Amino acid sequence: CGIVGVLGNHEVAPLLVEALKRLEYRGYDSAGIATVNHGRLDRRRAVGKLANLSDLLVHEPLAGKAGIGHTRWATHGAATVTNAHPHRSGPVAVVHNGIIENFRELRAELAEAGLSCETETDTETVALMVRMYMDRGLPPREAARETLGRLEGAFALLFLFEGEDDLMIAARKGSPLAIGHGEGEMFVGSDAIALAPMTDRITYLEEGDHAFVTRAGVEIFDAAGRRANRETLKIQLDQ
Ligand code: GLU
Repeated sequence: CGIVGVLGNHEVAPLLVEALKRLEYRGYDSAGIATVNHGRLDRRRAVGKLANLSDLLVHEPLAGKAGIGHTRWATHGAATVTNAHPHRSGPVAVVHNGIIENFRELRAELAEAGLSCETETDTETVALMVRMYMDRGLPPREAARETLGRLEGAFALLFLFEGEDDLMIAARKGSPLAIGHGEGEMFVGSDAIALAPMTDRITYLEEGDHAFVTRAGVEIFDAAGRRANRETLKIQLDQ
């Protein structure tokens, strides 16, 4: 339901929770964040209010200057910790808005490849697909690209990778995503409002776009895989 991502210069866990709070008005049933800390990918998730996630983070802090976060409005699978995002398989974590329509077919294919689902969600198949391609030797960018080509439905996705402290991959197909530009920092949000305290310079992904985000900037590709130039806007939002 709500997606945020930060490649920052400070600890990102508080920033992610803060950004998710700005999306609370949309409603949600659970929440979670994942970070990469000196290459190590880890996550924390909680059912119910963001306060529950914050409490969890007090007892089990999550360090790292790169991270993604999500507030979930369940469509496939009950509102449990297991079904909460980020979903992780091996080297990849993903947050997702919307629905992967062909997740049953993907599940069957993944099972044949020896990768079984541990959750009831459509989203987990996306993490497993990326993992499958990475197991076959593809680097994160190519594995994400291959996976995106296999997905049907309306969605927004944001990926984070083990061993990659300076990379997020974002994709938009039917559900909005905004890239925020900082000073040596980059942000992603399903709504620019989430990013308002951090930046007012926003690039909206267009339908079918995917983007490789690093602290140095963003490379955007259109649905045909061609480099695309998207305008960066200075937006005004009530803080
Ligand atoms: N379909 C996904 C799920 O049920 C994402 C829902 C959402 O947009 O929050 O986990």
